[in-house]
Amino acid sequence: MSDHQKRFEAITQKLRDHHHKITPQRLAIAKILSKSIGHPSVEDIHAEIKIDFPTMSLATVYRNIVLIKSLGEVLEIGFPDGRNRYDGKRPYPHPHVICIKCKKIVDPDLDSLDDMKSEVESETHFKILNHRLDFFGICTDCMSEKE
Ligand code: ZN
Ligand code: MN
Repeated sequence: MSDHQKRFEAITQKLRDHHHKITPQRLAIAKILSKSIGHPSVEDIHAEIKIDFPTMSLATVYRNIVLIKSLGEVLEIGFPDGRNRYDGKRPYPHPHVICIKCKKIVDPDLDSLDDMKSEVESETHFKILNHRLDFFGICTDCMSEKE
């Protein structure tokens, strides 16, 4: 089973476990979230879903994402401008690298993160439950565009 199939199964199983109706629309949203190509926004997901479900509203897509988020099956990457992005492929906290020009978001693989967590815990005596770590910069595509 591929990673996105595993994620799709996990999301739909969680919906079933919590006795939420499994509708074709809901399955389509779960499928898009399980891939989360490029960390889509609600608008991106809505645009993709409209191909198969032309009457589905943005509000319905949003409600379903809020539901799946409440089940812990999608990570929300919040932004002050309200254009939040979503990662249902990796629903747990992880760092992101964000291009300030084109808003591309990628997942870096960092080995040092576990060390950082224990360092923060030993320094502050907090029990760390969660983290948010974003790196902002300019991606290679945007860099090569400047004259
Ligand atoms: Zn860029
Ligand atoms: Mn991510």
